[in-house]
Amino acid sequence: MKLHWQILIGLALAVPAGLLAGTDAGLFGVTFHQAFDFVGTLFLNALLMLVVPLVLASIINAMAGIGSSGALGRLGGKTLLYYLATSLFAILVGLMLVNLIEPGTLDGRPAGEVMGLQAEVDSPVVAQLEGRGAGEVAEIFLRMIPTNVVDAAAQGQLLGLIFFSLLFGFFMTRIDSPYRETLTNFWQAVFDVMMRMTDLVLRFAPLGVFALVARVMAETGLAAFGPLALFFVTVVLALAIHFLITLPLVMYFVGRVNPWRQYRAMAPALLTAFSTSSSAATLPLTLECVQKNAGVSQRTSGFVLPLGATVNMDGTALYECVAVLFIAQAYGLDLSLGTQLLVVVIALVTSIGVAGIPAAGLVAIAIILAAVGLPLEGIALILAVDRLLDMFRTAVNVFGDSCGAVVIARREGEEGILQNGSDAASGSRQV
Ligand code: ASP
Repeated sequence: MKLHWQILIGLALAVPAGLLAGTDAGLFGVTFHQAFDFVGTLFLNALLMLVVPLVLASIINAMAGIGSSGALGRLGGKTLLYYLATSLFAILVGLMLVNLIEPGTLDGRPAGEVMGLQAEVDSPVVAQLEGRGAGEVAEIFLRMIPTNVVDAAAQGQLLGLIFFSLLFGFFMTRIDSPYRETLTNFWQAVFDVMMRMTDLVLRFAPLGVFALVARVMAETGLAAFGPLALFFVTVVLALAIHFLITLPLVMYFVGRVNPWRQYRAMAPALLTAFSTSSSAATLPLTLECVQKNAGVSQRTSGFVLPLGATVNMDGTALYECVAVLFIAQAYGLDLSLGTQLLVVVIALVTSIGVAGIPAAGLVAIAIILAAVGLPLEGIALILAVDRLLDMFRTAVNVFGDSCGAVVIARREGEEGILQNGSDAASGSRQV
C-alpha cells in the first residue's frame, strides 16, 4: 500500500480513537493520552533531529549548484516574488471572507458578549504574550544575522542558520581547488545521508501521525467549538480556497504543470504537516517529496524549501488576518478600511518572522493586536480552536512552499517536473 494511504488511514483512525479516549481513559495505570503523547513526541523528535543538518546541507549544496551571483539574484528574486505574491493573495482571501461571513457577530451581537469575554483572560498563553508589540518586527530582522550560529542552530532559529548557510555556500564555490571539491563532496555526502535518515523516519509516519492527531483530539474534543464554529469554518474555507483554487491556478498558469499531480506528490508531507503543526519539522519530508515525487532539482528545492519553511507562510498570514478581524468583530469594533489594510501589511511581514513551530502564529496575532490598538486578551477568544486550525494552516504553509519549488523550477527551465508517475530528477524511488 502506498505510504500516503497508510498515513491517511492512521489519521482517520486517530480521530475516533482520540475522541473516545479523552484524557482520562487508560489501561494498567497508563492513559491512552500519555501513550499517544509518547509515540507522537518520539516521531516529532525524530523529524526535528534531522532539520539543522538538513537545512545546512541543502542550502549549501543548492548554492554550489547555483554558482554565479547573477543566477543567485535571479533565483532569489523569483523566490521572493512568489512568496510575497502568494502570501498576499492568501491574506486578501481571508480578509474578504471574514468581512463577508462576519464570524465575530452572532445573532447581530458581538460574539464577545455571547462568549463572556472574561472567560479565559487569565490563561497562561495570554500572559506569555503580554508585552509583545510592533518593536518585535524589528527583532525578527535582527535575528536574521545571528551573533552565534551554533546558538542559533541550538535554539532552532532557522532564519539565522539559513543566512549563514547562504553565505557559506556562496563562498564555498569561490575558494581554490582542491578545497572547493572537498567541501562540495562533503556537503553533498551529508545531504545524501540526511535523506536516507529521512526515509527511515518516514516509514514511521503512519504511526506518528496517528499518535499526534489522536493526542490533539483527546485534548481538544469537539465541545470546544460552540460560538467559535463560524470562526473555524471561515478560516478553513479561506484556507481551502487558497489550497484548492489559488495555488493550483498559479501552478497551472505560471508553472505550466498539472496541479492535481502536486497533491499526489506531496501527500505524505501534507499529512505530516497537518499532524505535527510544524513546517520546520516537516521540512525533511517536504524536501523528499519535492525532489523524489515531483522531480524538482536539488539546486532549486534546496534553496526554495528551507527558506520557504521559515519565511513563506500563506496559511499563517491568512489566519492572522482572519483572527484579528474576528477579535475586532467580537469586541463590537468596526475597523476602518485603512486599519484593515494595515492588518494586511503587518500580517504579511510578521508571517515572514513566525517560526515554523506549533502555535507560533499566536505571537504574530499579539503583535498585530498591539499595532492596531485592540486588546491582547482577545486572543483568549480563539485559543479553544487554535490548536486544530494550526493543523490546517501548517498544511497550507507547506503546500505553498512546495508549489513555489515547482513553479520556480519551471521558470528556471527545468524539465520533467510532475510528469505522470515520474521521479525525473533523482531517478530514485518515490515516497
Ligand atoms: N504552526 C505553523 C507552522 O509551523 C506556524 C503557525 O501558524 O503557528 O507552519
